[in-house]
Amino acid sequence: MIVIKNKIHLQKYLQNRRKEGNSIGFAPTMGALHEGHLSLIDQANTSCDISVCSIFVNPTQFNNKKDLEKYPRTESEDLQLLHKAECDLVFLPDVDTIYPPGETAETEFDFGHLDKVMEGAFRPGHFAGVANVVKRLLDIVMPDSLFMGQKDFQQFTIIASMLDLLKSKIDLILCPTVRSETGLALSSRNRRLSATGLETASIIFQTLEYTRMNIKNTEIEKLKDEALKTLKQAGFTPEYFEIVDGFDLMPVTNYKNSGYIVACTASWLEDIRLIDNMILKQARKT
Ligand code: AMP
Repeated sequence: MIVIKNKIHLQKYLQNRRKEGNSIGFAPTMGALHEGHLSLIDQANTSCDISVCSIFVNPTQFNNKKDLEKYPRTESEDLQLLHKAECDLVFLPDVDTIYPPGETAETEFDFGHLDKVMEGAFRPGHFAGVANVVKRLLDIVMPDSLFMGQKDFQQFTIIASMLDLLKSKIDLILCPTVRSETGLALSSRNRRLSATGLETASIIFQTLEYTRMNIKNTEIEKLKDEALKTLKQAGFTPEYFEIVDGFDLMPVTNYKNSGYIVACTASWLEDIRLIDNMILKQARKT
């Protein structure tokens, strides 16, 4: 495994590999890696000749400064995990590499409704930050395929839209959410939960499962109310529990009206914001 911090070195290295006919698979991350991230590397290794993982805690996507400060940074453990996962190349840029001083131009994307709802409504500016950092990383790495987790479903939808707007040829691959034995979606934030918090957190998965099992024969509004009630009773402070169309993220009011339905939620527990989602009807073609 090669570790590169310098953008020019990375570009030269990848240019040579590309000339030899190798395809490049890329998984951008913010580190504090777990099995969820490593599943993206696995998929990149399976589908591409060279797997590239970046670790960069992107300051522009944190609307809350404290959250950025508290974000776990575990570089040496991350490198060990990536080595074990047979990642070919790790890119560790610093802030000035991604945001060169003096260069302020941010690309503004019109995502329409996609970045206004759910995460977009509760984390103003978050998706503009995500889209910009992903664009900057893609411009440097120039991969053939981009691997992103279903765990951040709205983020995936927005990056799909960004690639469309850019008329990009990059293949975007949706990788399934990796969960703990209790169903809790793996997340770097989980390590801040207490033992009891970890147990309680699995109720998010149970609530999503309950919704999935009952969506065909229960009114959608009723299911959303029930889900919010269950989460509150378990000690969460839910921000939203929405049932939306998986392509345009518009609320679905009737099971029959959409071919692709996803339930998405964000809830606070022990001062930690947890997000999760579940596909309730038909998987998206990836
Ligand atoms: P992050 O480091 O949180 O920015 O995540 C980097 C990538 O890993 C994103 O594409 C996430 O959706 C993905 N990811 C994070 N957690 C999981 C998980 N539990 N299962 C699958 N993918 C995940």
